[in-house]
This record gives sequence, C-alpha cells and structure tokens, in this order.
Amino acid sequence: MTAQLITGISELTTQAAETSHDDDRLLDAALVIENGRISWIGPAAEAPAADTSVDVGGRAVLPGWVDTHTHLIFAGDRAAEFEARIAGQRYAAGGIATTMAATRSATSADLIGNARRLRREAEAQGTTFLETKTGYGLDLASELRSAQAAAEVADVVTYLGAHVVPPGLDRRDYLDLVTGPMLAAVSPHVDFIDAFCETGAFDVEESHEVLLAGRAAGLGLRLHGNQLGFSGGVRLAVELGCASVDHCNHLEEADIDALAGSGTVATLLPACDLSTREPFPPARRLLDAGAHIALASNCNPGTSYTTSMPFSVATAVLQMGLTVREAVWAATRGAARSVGREHGPDAVGSLTIGGRADLQVLDAPSVAHLAYRPGVSLCLATWTEGVRAARTQPGF
Ligand SMILES: [Zn+2]
Repeated sequence: MTAQLITGISELTTQAAETSHDDDRLLDAALVIENGRISWIGPAAEAPAADTSVDVGGRAVLPGWVDTHTHLIFAGDRAAEFEARIAGQRYAAGGIATTMAATRSATSADLIGNARRLRREAEAQGTTFLETKTGYGLDLASELRSAQAAAEVADVVTYLGAHVVPPGLDRRDYLDLVTGPMLAAVSPHVDFIDAFCETGAFDVEESHEVLLAGRAAGLGLRLHGNQLGFSGGVRLAVELGCASVDHCNHLEEADIDALAGSGTVATLLPACDLSTREPFPPARRLLDAGAHIALASNCNPGTSYTTSMPFSVATAVLQMGLTVREAVWAATRGAARSVGREHGPDAVGSLTIGGRADLQVLDAPSVAHLAYRPGVSLCLATWTEGVRAARTQPGF
C-alpha cells in the first residue's frame, strides 16, 4: 500500500457539504491518497508522513469535473452548418440526420477512436468522470454499436434512440423499434434512457412512452427538455422522477416550482446556448427557488462542439448569474447527483475520507480564477482514482 501526500494546496474545495451554499473550503491544506481513495484531509502543517509527496506550490485543488451530458459517439463534423447558423439560420433538430449518416458509415474502431480523442481533450481540462450517449445511429445495429462504443469510453452510458425519427421512417414504427427490439439490444450496455422532447423531435406523450419502456427495462431516466420552447419536458421529467432534465432554457414559474419540489436535477448547458445563440436558462431563479442544478458541456458535433467544463463554468458565472462556488458545485457534486453518484462508495464530484481520489490542480491560487481568467487553460494535473494522468504538465 503506497500513500501519496499532496501538499501546498492554497485552497482545497472538497464539496463535502450538502449544498453549494455551504463554504467547505480549506486553506493551506493537504490530502493523502491510498489505493485510489482519499485517506486523509487537513491542514498542511499537520499532514502525516507518506511514501511519496507532491507539493503543488500554493495552488487550488478541487474535485475533477463530472461531465454528465455529452454525445461523443459520432463521425464527421458540422462546421458548415455551424457557419450557416452563425450567419443567421436558426437551429432546428434536423441537423442530427447529417451526423446520423456519417455515424452509420463509420467503423466501430473509428467511433471509439474519435470518442477517446474527445475524452482525452476533456481530461486535459480537468474532467475525470464522463457520461455519453447513443443517438446518432438510429437503427438497431447502429444504436447497439454506439452503445457498445460508449461503454468502452465513458463512465455512464445513456441510450438516446429517441433523438429524432430518422428521415423516411414512420413515427409509430420507429417508436415501436426504440421501445422494443432496439431497447432490448442496447439495455445490457447502458445505464440510462433519454429522449429529445422538443418540436421536431418527440412530443411529451411520445417521450413519456419511451421513458416508461426504459424504466421497465431497468434503466434510469433522463430527458432533453425545454431547450427551444415550452415543450412540457420539464414537467414530464419531474412527474416520472427523472434523475435529470437537460437544457431547461424556457421555463415557466410552474416548471421552476416543479423542479424545486423534486429530486430531478436541472442540467444546464451554457456552451450549447452560446453556440446556438439561444437564451440562457434562468439559473439564478432555479437556485433561489431551491432546485438542484448541474452544468455539463453537451459536447456534440452540432450545437456544442466543446469538451471544456471550465468554459461551461466560466460562462455560467459570467452570463447566467451564478457565483463561482455555485458553478463549481454544479459541475462537480451537482453533476454527480444527476447521475446517481453523489453518495456511496462510488461517489464522484466530492473529496471525502474514503471517497474516490478524482481531483484536479489549477494553475491558480483559487477556483475564482476559473471565471476571473476565462478562456485560459488552468488545469495543471488530474488524478483519477488516485492515478495521476501522465499527459498533464509536470511543473511541480
Ligand atoms: Zn444532448
């Protein structure tokens, strides 16, 4: 058993408290990692002896990012569509079919290779735990292949057969496939089921049917809702007890009240809102009402082609009215809650004695720098389950 001491931490954000309102910063801190777990946290001056020691030289340490909304299983890109949209065309759900065609014609090795490339990119920016989805295959064989590829790359996998109805297919026939043979095929490889509840994709009734089928197959529930309008997705998600409802740009008071009175996390995707030039979700109102929020990258080739959680955190602070601590909480512990990994031996998004040693070192003395210095790459090193990523900078 090897004990590794990390000391010289100017500010240690543990996220051990139950809410983002509690200040659980430790200044001049140290921690010890043993067997992938944290075995000690406390003042640097009281740190115990260890087999090896790293002095991070007065820098901030916090949990690794928990990115709970990505679509990494795809081929091709949609830069031309992006340029057209930036030049004035409005985003509609139809571009998904473009990625579907490229994904179907790619090999499994290509799909896995591309997703791994993006995961490495995310890790270099501090992500240590990541969800990804199917949803660009949209026929049985391609969704199964996507689910298998996702399980190779991600920590949590979501089945999104209900992304859009593929061109040329009858809606009813496709829903029967998604909730029947396709679901049966992917179920062994996935943790959650999801649906894109939006104009141009699936309505509330159809999304309801998809989620109930997933629940019957033993999957957890999440939903894309209220991105482009008042789709009714948020209320459906709360009614069904979804772990998360994602996007939440257009919310009525009743939606906010419903979220506040529920265990459903509102996962907000600010990088997507910037890329599509859509209004940001009312994050401040959600928090003030008592709702739980998470932040995620929504990395996908259409509407948010970034893996950067620091970018999402900075945007949430600078554009959505969150404090730095609220945004960091939402991108770590709040995100863990949205995938059912907030508590227990497999918990992520917090640093506690006995918990997983998933952490990052910033090249800055405090987490405030994440928003104070937007666009600057501050992640200096990460440890995932106690193992330091080889690709991060030495420097200390
Ligand atoms: Zn999405």
